[in-house]
Amino acid sequence: MTIGVWVLGDQLWSQQSALASCQNSTPVILIESTEPAKQRRYHRQKLVLVWSAMRHFAETLRGEGWDVTYAIADNWEISLETWLNKYQIDELRIMLPNDRTFKTWIESLSLQCKLSWLANNHFLWSQTDFSQWANSRKQLLLEDFYRAGRKRFQVLMDGDKPVGGKWNFDKENRHPPRAKLITPEVLRFVPDSITLAVIEKVKALDFPLYGEIEPFSWAVTRSQVLEVLEHFVMNSLASFGPYQDAMLTGEETLWHSLLSPYLNLGLISPLEVIRRIEKAYLEATLPNNSIEGFVRQVLGWREYMQGVYQWVPENYPLLNWFNHTAQLPEFYWDSNQTEMNCLHQVLTQVEKTGYGHHIQRLMILSNFALIVGVSPQAIEFWFHSAFIDAYDWVMQTNVLGMGQFADGGILASKPYAASANYIHRMSDYCDRCVYNYRKRTGDRACPFNFFYWDFLDRHLEQLKSLGRLNLVLAHLYKLDPQELAAMKSLAENWRSQFLL
Ligand code: FAD
Ligand code: SF4
Repeated sequence: MTIGVWVLGDQLWSQQSALASCQNSTPVILIESTEPAKQRRYHRQKLVLVWSAMRHFAETLRGEGWDVTYAIADNWEISLETWLNKYQIDELRIMLPNDRTFKTWIESLSLQCKLSWLANNHFLWSQTDFSQWANSRKQLLLEDFYRAGRKRFQVLMDGDKPVGGKWNFDKENRHPPRAKLITPEVLRFVPDSITLAVIEKVKALDFPLYGEIEPFSWAVTRSQVLEVLEHFVMNSLASFGPYQDAMLTGEETLWHSLLSPYLNLGLISPLEVIRRIEKAYLEATLPNNSIEGFVRQVLGWREYMQGVYQWVPENYPLLNWFNHTAQLPEFYWDSNQTEMNCLHQVLTQVEKTGYGHHIQRLMILSNFALIVGVSPQAIEFWFHSAFIDAYDWVMQTNVLGMGQFADGGILASKPYAASANYIHRMSDYCDRCVYNYRKRTGDRACPFNFFYWDFLDRHLEQLKSLGRLNLVLAHLYKLDPQELAAMKSLAENWRSQFLL
């Protein structure tokens, strides 16, 4: 009986379960297909990152003695069948894909061999364990899940108590940015010959893509990724907590780790990251609020988003609680087409790098689409195209659930909608904007303001039913009706100008 392993493009770890279940002389295939990039626009750097990391990983496996076939093709199916025939494979082993749709697609193929799924070990929580946790409660609160994870994996625990005496140090975090903050250098990697070849390939593709291809400086191998982690711990982690939500012009990464592209490709495992952060805590070198704040992201949010994605019904991608139908403003594809400085800055950065940090994604890019009333599926499509770390599992929950509240509250307890007040407090973007963050009506009124109040007014009944927004809605009731009418009219005019 001949066994073969198909390593998917986001499963680039020697310890992944399908490889771990075989001897390292087993035939292995990786398929570099242009098929997904034809189905939606992708960021050029995302294609370079994924394909270069795959090519490097194939080399690593060869070095370990695996019989590796690296197929470069338009289409997955033909390469797979050719390889199955060539090696006379009787059993094809694949680690369960992170993305549900890909599993369904593989199952629809008429393979002439046995297909065996191996449990996915790129996340700490298995689907079964998450379902057991989720099925036993009325609401899926992140805080409860995170604490359960801390106990289950014994992370930052002293027996059954959290180290430092508290589960959550958030009150000490989320400071607005101060002037003259000194931020760490980003660790950049010079492309080697493999990456340069992929850059040339992507430049030659003749279908629509997004973003700039160069300079490309992402890590593409596991050893480079380990350097990224070390660099983060030594240079950024101490200030990660306090300035986690801050946004500053020209500062693309601040104290963020930039680990998501690599975690999502399997080049590093979440437990490795968590244990390294825990070591920094045990060495007593870094403040609790940053350590705990970061562990919450990886052990809490990341695992939670994947768990919810696997747990929700299959129609989740189609949900649209607010019934928003507007198309995406064209400037999301071209930052030069907007004068709103916050959007212009963040969109320019995404075009250049494929990266934005959490608050840029949530409170600028997603918030604006939400309050304007853009279709959740349209903004999800854009996010998936634009970001270096985007995959179905992380898009559905973050964009549809958290960003757009399209699931009506399965994931978040209230919508993340905000006016210019928030953006002015947490960034310096408003200082250099043609719009006035204080103004809700009249000349140069900030669109985030009139759309925010228009959003609250349009969805008043639904928002009331959530019971978490009484304070905010109390402000809406107190608004002068003429001012509200003026804001709604500005919102309508804007829509007719920008949503053709
Ligand atoms: P850091 O701020 O350094 O955080 C550390 C790690 O925590 C991240 O690397 C990531 O692995 C994990 N993490 C934190 N929050 C989340 C979360 N909500 N979901 C999943 N992982 C989380 N994350 C992606 O990996 N891919 C995406 O395409 C993506 N799109 C997003 C879209 C929207 C609208 C929102 C609100 C969030 C999105 N996120 C996405 C989550 C989060 O913003 C990114 O993981 C994070 O900004 C990546 O940058 P970093 O590695 O520097 O993160
Ligand atoms: Fe953004 Fe409004 Fe501030 Fe301009 S004034 S940067 S549009 S929030």
